[in-house]
Amino acid sequence: MNNEMSVEFVSRLENEAFLRTSAVAFLLPLNLHMDEIMEIKTLLAEAVVNAMIHGYEGREDGRIRVSIAYDESDIHMIIEDEGCGIDDIQLAMQPLYTSKQHLERSGMGMTIMQTFADDFHVISEKGKGTTVTIVK
Ligand code: ATP
Ligand code: MG
Repeated sequence: MNNEMSVEFVSRLENEAFLRTSAVAFLLPLNLHMDEIMEIKTLLAEAVVNAMIHGYEGREDGRIRVSIAYDESDIHMIIEDEGCGIDDIQLAMQPLYTSKQHLERSGMGMTIMQTFADDFHVISEKGKGTTVTIVK
């Protein structure tokens, strides 16, 4: 990796826009096309909002760390929370599965991330938190 950054912020919904904007600013030297920028923003937004509403269940005192690194061929993005963790990752990744039906979530975030990412991994431990790794 020839350039990298990481940023940590509290789990407040308005910080999702901060994170997207910071990420795009960091990636400016790559001269990405608009459609690639849109996909990266979507990937980061889905992962960060998941950390906020699922990982921390809306609590605003949790911390989320996002690390981004790139070289000539790839962009690596890591989104980490120390929230509740995921019981069954296979189930969580199923299209339309959501544990928050009452919040009118569509259960498509993980599927969207899998579709847009070249490589996508989730590691999670109940009560310890979740780490999402995305390669683009
Ligand atoms: P949508 O993303 O369409 O608004 P959603 O967030 O419920 O709905 P996904 O993003 O696909 O759907 O996530 C599926 C499920 O995985 C969530 O409902 C939640 O139970 C679990 N999940 C995802 N990310 C996390 C996380 N960081 N911490 C804990 N649980 C998570
Ligand atoms: Mg989601």
